[in-house]
Amino acid sequence: MDDWRLGMQPTRNQRTIAAPATIQGVGYWSGRDVRVEFRPAPTDTGIVFVRADMKGCPRIPATVEHRFETPRRTTLRCGEAAVEMIEHIMAALAGLQIDNCELWVNEPEMPGCDGSSLPFVQVLSAAGVVEQAALRRRKVIRRTIRVGDESSWIEARPCCSGKMVLRYELDYGSGSSIGRQSLEVSLSPRHFHINLAPSRTFMLQSEAEAIKALGLGQRATCKDLLIFDSRGPIDNELRFPDECVRHKLVDMVGDLALAGCDLVGRFVAYRSGHRLNAELVRTIAAQDEPSENIRRCA
Ligand SMILES: [Zn+2]
Repeated sequence: MDDWRLGMQPTRNQRTIAAPATIQGVGYWSGRDVRVEFRPAPTDTGIVFVRADMKGCPRIPATVEHRFETPRRTTLRCGEAAVEMIEHIMAALAGLQIDNCELWVNEPEMPGCDGSSLPFVQVLSAAGVVEQAALRRRKVIRRTIRVGDESSWIEARPCCSGKMVLRYELDYGSGSSIGRQSLEVSLSPRHFHINLAPSRTFMLQSEAEAIKALGLGQRATCKDLLIFDSRGPIDNELRFPDECVRHKLVDMVGDLALAGCDLVGRFVAYRSGHRLNAELVRTIAAQDEPSENIRRCA
């Protein structure tokens, strides 16, 4: 069926950054200093991490085939080379619709910054975004696909607006200071920058203590992310009343970007995390319908 009859916007052009950009910070888990240099890349490169600190500078394409399961964060692996905690960088690139970019890094773990996607969005926006002479590939969701179980799930549904619409339902129970929050957004670079990118990583005090007991996260404090006790965030203030659900949408944007193409559909998640989000991307990728890079004529 023709895209226009479905009420869809035509496919857009691919985009990259206009100039290189750099960000430095500390990895949350490892506590190690890391530097990331974003470099413009030709059409159809996709997002590729380059381990500049390893012999031969191995390349790791940011696609779901290279995803390796690790708790609470997203890791990519290609041969001996790995990069981890990539989700907020991936969200920044996808949120700004930057499709082709090389990320030269000198450590496996990406910088945690303030726990949000905003520092990445700011350096990428300052570098500028340019259109390229090729169409962006996209996959249109034509039937509902669901992964997960009753306690947590995510599904992709057809969406007649021709856009990517995301909905997240967070549920920590009424006894928790995080509680229940839900939000639905229609994704655009401007909306992502203002409404989603500033929202930060959050966890319960008990979870933070368990991580520190393992010897991880030694340099992270309550100022570097949101740590909730029974009254609310400890030693910190919320940027939005519903900052937690906004952050879950940031994670979702970063995880769905591992599809390596635009996804047109409505994505609804209930208590899902990185693992389920990636499972949905894998399921979508396994569907036999080809992705589109040309708007077909009637
Ligand atoms: Zn996150």
